[in-house]
Amino acid sequence: MRLTFLGASMMVTGSSYLLEVGQRKILVDCGMFQGSKATEALNRRPFLFDPTTIDAVLLTHAHIDHSGLLPRLCKSGYKGKIYTSKATTDLCRIMLADSAHIQEFEAEIANRKGRRAGKTPVEPLYTVADAEVCLKQFHPVPYNVLFDIFPEIRVKLDDAGHILGSSIIEIWLIENDKTAKLVFSGDLGRPDQPIIKDPTYIDEADYIIMETTYGNRIHEHYDQLDALAGIIRDTVKRGGNIVIPAFAVGRTQIIIYFLHQLLKAGKIPDIPVFIDSPLAISATDIFMHNPQEFDVEAYDMLYKQQDNPLKLPHLNFTRTSDESKAINLLDEPVIIISASSMADAGRILHHLKHNLWRTEASILFVGYQAQGSLGRRLLEGAKRVKIMGEEISVKAQIHNMEGFSAHADQMQLLDWLEHLKTPPANIFLIHGEQEAAEAFAKVVDERLHIPTYIPHYGDSAVLDGRQFSIEGSAITLVDPKFQQLHEYLEQLDSDYMELRKRIEHITTEGDSKLPEIIEGVEKAGKFIRNTAEIIGNSK
Ligand SMILES: [Zn+2]
Repeated sequence: MRLTFLGASMMVTGSSYLLEVGQRKILVDCGMFQGSKATEALNRRPFLFDPTTIDAVLLTHAHIDHSGLLPRLCKSGYKGKIYTSKATTDLCRIMLADSAHIQEFEAEIANRKGRRAGKTPVEPLYTVADAEVCLKQFHPVPYNVLFDIFPEIRVKLDDAGHILGSSIIEIWLIENDKTAKLVFSGDLGRPDQPIIKDPTYIDEADYIIMETTYGNRIHEHYDQLDALAGIIRDTVKRGGNIVIPAFAVGRTQIIIYFLHQLLKAGKIPDIPVFIDSPLAISATDIFMHNPQEFDVEAYDMLYKQQDNPLKLPHLNFTRTSDESKAINLLDEPVIIISASSMADAGRILHHLKHNLWRTEASILFVGYQAQGSLGRRLLEGAKRVKIMGEEISVKAQIHNMEGFSAHADQMQLLDWLEHLKTPPANIFLIHGEQEAAEAFAKVVDERLHIPTYIPHYGDSAVLDGRQFSIEGSAITLVDPKFQQLHEYLEQLDSDYMELRKRIEHITTEGDSKLPEIIEGVEKAGKFIRNTAEIIGNSK
């Protein structure tokens, strides 16, 4: 049998693995690559297998970096079933449709520009219609029940405690009278997350394919409820709004849950809360239709105390963009939860435009802010930002609350492995940047003495019982020139922020270096405008 790594190799995006057993081909996850332009270009690359030859697909969870290329797979000829949990099926219904909308929208924008430049039109990666066809192939299965997808392939899903419906996938395989058990961890949740259950411990496996997003990090522990209450109370006292950029699925519902608890405890004033993201509204609905996935606390609250943990007395859902714009006409302080989580697209831009310049307002980040995103620039202390073509001065208080991650940290990943009753023959470390995967490999070796392997994109592991060998691939994932450019740009970003901070500290008038500094900055500006001209209008 053979296991090929088709994504999430030394990166946290594009999860996909091909498992070949005899004549059967099984695909585990079919994720979209998200991130830089060079990484996203991989989404258009032909699949490294013939989609018509795949016999079954197993899906760990609904996040787009695990599910996002399924519509393309089906469009390219895959006609079989997509096995996953019920809640994942429900979430994919909205998330794949949303992703298809984005694909169609981006293609339309590119074509509008392209037509003027006489370019051949680009096709969207897939359309809403493609996503709908693909959703018909979803086949929900319950957790913790063994089922045979083929006589030689038995599967079980267990709750991974990462997001609603997320699964660890256990697979038992038979080939030439030899058996092997593989466990795909999927994205493993952080224990004690609100609403959803803790990750399931696994007893045994011959091979584990394990995520390492935070393989080199340990989450900070502090009282999140207290911190959130403090920010809300202070902002309301100043008469400002609290704007929270958040992922529509998972993060938004956790914040509603926290607000519910704080209100019940009388720790925050009862002010209006707006969920301003159509996707977040649908996702909250799906949470309410899947209470069987809730942890004991949330379940008891809902059924024993008849107290819906995802409801608030003044919770408002805004679906249309007019309703969204009307929020900023209100005089009283409100809480606005909107997407995107990194504040670089979507309705949140509108709310930032109306609140960033107000000293009384607060912007609260609750998730990772990637290098170069507007969120990151605000956290790094930018004094002015450009939003929808308009210069906005930053006067609001900018807060960052860590610890909302839906991923287990290094200690929690280790703890999950420590619950195995017999050690596996090998652990393949995936879904982590190189540093994270390498750091985790080191602690697994030191603490558990289990061998690990960090695969490259396209590598295959040939498994023979508990013996295996690696067939390395010669595929270059990203053109090294693109990679180099990407690294330069990241460096440029941080150099710029550093320089800006230092220049802004020159406060004394008549500083002798000032004319020279102005000249230098002018030169840099000219250089950037020249580069822009070289690029022209090409996208
Ligand atoms: Zn995930």
